[in-house]
Amino acid sequence: MLLRAQGFYAANSIELRLGAFAECIDRNARVVVLADGTRLAYDHLVLAMGSRNRGAVIPGLGTGALLELRTLAHARKLAARVGELRHVTIVGGGFIGLELASLFRSRGIEIDVIEASERPMGRALSPMTSEYFRRFHTEAGVRFRLRNVVQSVGYDVARQVVTLSDGTTINTDAIIMATGVLPNDALAATAGLKVSNGVVVDAQLRTSDPTISAIGDCAAHPNPFCNGLVRLESVQNAIDQARYVAARLIGSAAPYRSLPWFWSNQGSARLQIAGFAADADNAVLRGKPESGAFSVFLYRGERLIAVESVNKPSDHVAARRILSGGLSVPKSMAAETSADLKQFAGAAVLREVSTVAQPRA
Ligand SMILES: Cc1cc2nc3c(=O)[nH]c(=O)nc-3n(C[C@H](O)[C@H](O)[C@H](O)COP(=O)(O)OP(=O)(O)OC[C@H]3O[C@@H](n4cnc5c(N)ncnc54)[C@H](O)[C@@H]3O)c2cc1C
Repeated sequence: MLLRAQGFYAANSIELRLGAFAECIDRNARVVVLADGTRLAYDHLVLAMGSRNRGAVIPGLGTGALLELRTLAHARKLAARVGELRHVTIVGGGFIGLELASLFRSRGIEIDVIEASERPMGRALSPMTSEYFRRFHTEAGVRFRLRNVVQSVGYDVARQVVTLSDGTTINTDAIIMATGVLPNDALAATAGLKVSNGVVVDAQLRTSDPTISAIGDCAAHPNPFCNGLVRLESVQNAIDQARYVAARLIGSAAPYRSLPWFWSNQGSARLQIAGFAADADNAVLRGKPESGAFSVFLYRGERLIAVESVNKPSDHVAARRILSGGLSVPKSMAAETSADLKQFAGAAVLREVSTVAQPRA
């Protein structure tokens, strides 16, 4: 599944080596060595190795019986089995686990979601939005088994029997692991580059060797909209960082400064997040969750740091402009649905042109 037609690569002098695996980096010689022994010289090297599913060892569960979703092969394996499934157990209540849950429910398949923490999507979402999705999926028939992990898997005649840490047993046709990812950083670590939950890069996305950059899921970078180093797993992050490094290599010197944003489609609920909510300490609700369309504005003190929107694309677009401009929205305005955020965002962008916008300190 090429992202572009084959002709694009040739026309742009890009040699696409599908099936090739970079095995090691000889930094002294500035050469990447492929698994088949080919040596590729570089002036600058960009590491964009992505991440891999975390996986998990569950006593009693053979790897052949495990289903997951990351690659095309995983998707095909899942698709081939969907027609025969009456009950599915999803381990992990994050974005991918819940996107799968709503898809399976729409086909009438029974679902149990096992989640170790006390709320779904707890790593990424505020408690208010997380609670909305817990209810949303519960009303659609998903059973959440929160604060639980899978202890073991056994078999009765034709089904698997999952035993949870609270002692509950679930008879199921398939177990899908959706427990997050780990960065593919081994190539960098073996080459002696600094690695800490991803390849560590500076504000210009350079690794500890300035002739090597790292981007996307595999890179831990200092983002001015987050506190400290973050490793983001999103299409926006991968694309913006790729564009940034390309621009830097042809002369741009500004540090990387891209607002993180994310999305997830779960049944009829389209979730969009602008900014990074982890450091929020208070929240303002805009609209009514019961209506199925609302936003949660997340603040640190008086400063807006993130906005989560459900079926409110206009709030999301405005929030991105406002946060990118390093600006905040007064809480009274955030709460008032008749207040025009689009106009405020427009004025904010104009102000940004005349002042130097300050992202979060
Ligand atoms: C099921 C699923 C749903 C998702 N949904 C969303 C979504 O709705 N929105 C969103 O923003 N993000 C989503 N994501 C996340 C998003 O796909 C990733 O953040 C994004 O693909 C990261 O891009 P990347 O280029 O860093 O890594 P990847 O897209 O993972 O690409 C890395 C590539 O490097 C290759 N590679 C690794 N090591 C080597 C090596 N040594 N030699 C050669 N090749 C190597 C890998 O095979 C892979 O092809 C989803 C991910 C999954 C799995």
